[in-house]
This record gives sequence, structure tokens and C-alpha cells, in this order.
Amino acid sequence: MVKETKFYDILGVKPNASDSEIKKAYRKLALKYHPDKNPSEGDKFKQISQAYEVLSDAKKREIYDRGGEEAIKGGDAGGGGFHSPMDIFDMFFGGGGRSRGPAKGKDVIHQMKVSLEDLYNGTTRKLAVQKNVICSNCEGRGGKEGAVGKCGNCRGTGMCVRIHQLAPGMVQQVQSVCNECHGQGEKINPKDRCKNCLGKKVIKERKILEVHVDKGMRDEQQIRFSGEGDQEPGLEPGDIIIVLDEKEHPVFKRRGTDLKMDMELELVEALCGFSKSIQTLDDRTLIISTLPGEVVKNGDIKCVLKEGMPVYKDPFEKGRLVIIFNVNFPPNNFLPKDKLKSLEKLLPPRQESIIPDGAEECTLTDFDPSASGRRRGNEAYDSDDENPGGQRVQCASH
Ligand SMILES: [Zn+2]
Ligand SMILES: [Zn+2]
Repeated sequence: MVKETKFYDILGVKPNASDSEIKKAYRKLALKYHPDKNPSEGDKFKQISQAYEVLSDAKKREIYDRGGEEAIKGGDAGGGGFHSPMDIFDMFFGGGGRSRGPAKGKDVIHQMKVSLEDLYNGTTRKLAVQKNVICSNCEGRGGKEGAVGKCGNCRGTGMCVRIHQLAPGMVQQVQSVCNECHGQGEKINPKDRCKNCLGKKVIKERKILEVHVDKGMRDEQQIRFSGEGDQEPGLEPGDIIIVLDEKEHPVFKRRGTDLKMDMELELVEALCGFSKSIQTLDDRTLIISTLPGEVVKNGDIKCVLKEGMPVYKDPFEKGRLVIIFNVNFPPNNFLPKDKLKSLEKLLPPRQESIIPDGAEECTLTDFDPSASGRRRGNEAYDSDDENPGGQRVQCASH
């Protein structure tokens, strides 16, 4: 029977919790509410720390169980008062410098492929990860309590110094990881070794992470799972970081919040108007049409407002859908020569060009950009924006 359960409640454990359950609860909560991660939860961090300080000490726990918080503060425990939450945290996680906080394990980074549709609509993905967790059997000691001793080879430092003779009278000290304890500085008697982790202190665990991809997230954006990295005794676990990897879309290219697409137009559509449909990333159908009489030139760019990508964290705001038009001109001889006359009558008239006396007649051939070097004087080259690749060919000018 305990007098009150407040400290147990703070750690989320039952009053009959074992030491290891209390440790585990503290580890979880302290990492979660550590000011580095949760600056606004300082009070919570302090409460967790005080509860742990009392419940992790058999003597203080007994006093608390009998007399409650009052008894602890009253000084039955000897002086009352608590250590600073940071000191408790550092002691627990074995971090040395109190200003720098505990040493942290490596972050683990995973790439996750997402489609543009996923980034437009938002999605949740389950991701299975393998990670090291502290062995619960031995609580990360690797063996029975007290069975772990200093490595004799390196005297517990984990490092060995070897002397290299470079030349007579000239030696070099080389430091290397101790090969008996592999840098651990500890040795465990094989018969006391933890059967669960085989003395490795950690075991592999498969964990499913739920990754929430929010509307408007972008390529290479990171989603961080704090403290979900590999666990290692004495280290605060690093994070698992999911990095989004946007798959290329067959139609749309993204530029910030704008979506860009190319649209092919036949010459007749460019001149006489069109009505065309676009399938959006959330599977709606948009119809875009020209105004009567409107001409769309090759390379013209138009846009539809609010049909681009949603803005991250403000998904009702959307960018623009930008459409770049490519006009397909008909092939050579698409009309019998006599019909060209009637087409010409419908088109805007040509400009009369005045040909002076003595002008030279020359042959116009197709331009091959790879075949350079044979420059023939001032050959005329008409550089209209007609090349379909959108590549602009520059003529050398002197
Ligand atoms: Zn173990
Ligand atoms: Zn060693």
C-alpha cells in the first residue's frame, strides 16, 4: 500500500513497478520532454526528473511510499531537495558535460519515394525499419549485474597504444581500438553473458513507422522521428529521418508551388481555337479553352490560378498551373500546291520584300548543329523559335 501515487503517475507506471520499468519510463519521458526537443515543456521535464530521482532510489522510494511527497520534502530522506533535472538526465544517460547535454547516437536516414500525387493529396505510409534497442533482459549491461568487468588488455579505456619504431631512436605512438573488447573497455565472463543479446547489450528490433506526408511537402523534405534511431547504452538514441524523394511525373513538373506542363497544339488549334482537358493530381478534369479569335503561338505560356501545388501547412492555398504551348506545324506538302493559294488568301498578307539588283541566289538547307566548321560566308539562317525541343541554337557572331 502506498500513501499516494503522484510520482508513479508522472512516470506512467504502477506503484509496484520494478526498477527497470521505472528506468524505462523515465528514459522515454525524459527524451520526449527534454528541453532540446520540447523547450516549452520545462515543467514537465522537471516533474519527470523529480519522480525518477525518488523512485529510482530504494531508500527514497520507501519513504515516499510510506509518507508521500510531504515526507520526501520534509527531510526524512536527508536534506530534502532535488538535483537539477539536467544532472539527473546526464547521470542517467551517462553524458559528461552538463552544458552540452548527453551524447547522441547517429541519426539514421531513410529515403522514401513519393509520387507527385502523394505530395499533392497528402498520404500516410507505413515504413518498416530495423533498429538496435537496448536489451531489456540485461538493461544494456550485456550480462548479469556485477558480471561486467574492466577489460584487462586496455585497462577499460577501449584503446590500446602501440609503439612503432620508425627508425633507431625514433618511435611513434599509435592508438588503436582494443581488439579484445572492441573498444568497449569491458569484459564479461562468458557464463554470465546475457543470453538474450549474447553480451551485445542491444538487440535488433523491427519497427513500423507511420510516415505522414502532408499536402504540399516537397522533394528532399525531412520527416524526423526523434529518438527512434539505434539505441546504445549511455547514448541518447539518434533520430530516424525520412527524406522524401519525389518521383518524376509524366505530365507535371514542379517549381515551388507552381506546376508546369507542356501542351501540344496542332496549328489549326493554335490559329482557330481549342478546348482541351487536363487531368489534375487529385483526379479532377479541367477544361481549358481559348477565347474566340485568340491565337496561341509556339512557346506561349499561360496559367490557371489555384491549380498548382498546395502550400505546405496552408493547403487551401495553391500555386499556379503553368502551361507551355508547343505548336505542331504540318509536314511538308501537307496541301496540294494549288490549295496553298486559297490558304494564303485566308492568312495575313505577306510583306513585300524588295530584292536589289545583283542579289545572289543561294540554297537554304536544314541546319545540323553537330556539323560545324564549314562556314560559308553570310549564309542566311532563320532562327525562329520553331525547334520543338525548345533548344535555342545560337549563331556565332563576330
Ligand atoms: Zn542482454
Ligand atoms: Zn579492451
